[in-house]
Amino acid sequence: MSILTIKCTDCGVEFELSDEEQEFFNTHTGIDGKQMQLPKRCRACRAARKSNPYAGRIITTRPSNGRRVVTNSHTPLVNRKPFAEVLLETVKTSFDKVLAARPDCAPTMVLDTVLDIIKVTTQNRQRLNSENVYQLAIERLEEERALNS
Ligand SMILES: [Zn+2]
Repeated sequence: MSILTIKCTDCGVEFELSDEEQEFFNTHTGIDGKQMQLPKRCRACRAARKSNPYAGRIITTRPSNGRRVVTNSHTPLVNRKPFAEVLLETVKTSFDKVLAARPDCAPTMVLDTVLDIIKVTTQNRQRLNSENVYQLAIERLEEERALNS
């Protein structure tokens, strides 16, 4: 055997499989008891899939409005940030911005509003975007101010 070059089915990058790795896949059985297949994905994509099994697959969701949403994401998984990191960044950025724009609001109220908007955004499987979260939070705080005045 010699080094085998395989094109990753997720990101298209070619990766190499050494003699030892080929040997391993050819002589081991998987958890299903069947002979293991040679990997179709590069190391980074395999790791990304493990941490997010939905990444790169066709996802069908049915949000509260009852309409079926089909997403097929082809974004290279390797370039994606972990969700927790994106979440923290969005909370931090939008909280700071809203607080700067509305110094009359209590920080806990701003945080509650920001977190609630982020919750709805992720429940609807919309992409997190601190600019959108900021806009929605400002709108909601305006509504609350109008209601309370
Ligand atoms: Zn890959």
